[in-house]
Amino acid sequence: MAKYRKKIVAGNWKMNLSIAEATELASSVARGLAEVREVDVVLCPPFTALGAVGDAISGGSIKLGAQNMYWEKDGAFTGEISAAMLRGLFCRYVILGHSERRTHFGDTDEVVNRKVRTALESSLEPIVCVGESLEQREAGETNEVLEAQLRASLADLGADYGKVIVAYEPVWAIGSGLTAAPAQAQDAHAWIRSVVGEIAGSEVADSLRIQYGGSVKADNARELMSQADVDGALVGGASLESRSFVEIVRAGVPND
Ligand code: PEP
Repeated sequence: MAKYRKKIVAGNWKMNLSIAEATELASSVARGLAEVREVDVVLCPPFTALGAVGDAISGGSIKLGAQNMYWEKDGAFTGEISAAMLRGLFCRYVILGHSERRTHFGDTDEVVNRKVRTALESSLEPIVCVGESLEQREAGETNEVLEAQLRASLADLGADYGKVIVAYEPVWAIGSGLTAAPAQAQDAHAWIRSVVGEIAGSEVADSLRIQYGGSVKADNARELMSQADVDGALVGGASLESRSFVEIVRAGVPND
């Protein structure tokens, strides 16, 4: 029998929203999803709003996530933030290796791997992003690129592989309005699951939750998340509006 995997939908607010705006959005999402328990929901505001959003969602089932972190514990790393600092703000998840980090801030697979290992050591659950560029897809290199990113980003995680979430985010679909066709997403997710099976064994692979990210909207979320290997969504733009994010989460409720 196929393994049941609870869907997980995360909102990546990127570098948007004041503390007041973030609080209002989080409260509105929490009200909209008060009855929903069938999907894990994560809000990832900018660092400045983590405390306020944590307060706004406390007592409910929505969880807090950060958008990045550094691997060192403390010290002279101006501008960085540690895993313990995120734990202190009650973060449970952290997005690592987002393509915007890889493109603008030089996060290589090796950097992502160091961050992933530190996050796990600190009891944070990493959402590890992988995805191919348009040129790579057009050159037929998608599987190769995903495999290389996974093998390097997820190297040497020991007993912790089961705590990792992977987000498949084709770079060409992020913030572009272009979405992977459901069958394209399914193919990539099935490939990711098979590669993780080779890295960490079939039990881990069967339980691994793989989110799709890239212009997920209320009107395409259901079809994407109904694919066999699509276990949720990582949502950028559409998570900045309460109504659309709530609808996306609802689209992940089984048989809703
Ligand atoms: C993202 O930031 O991870 C993302 C998928 O953005 P968008 O939904 O706006 O494409």
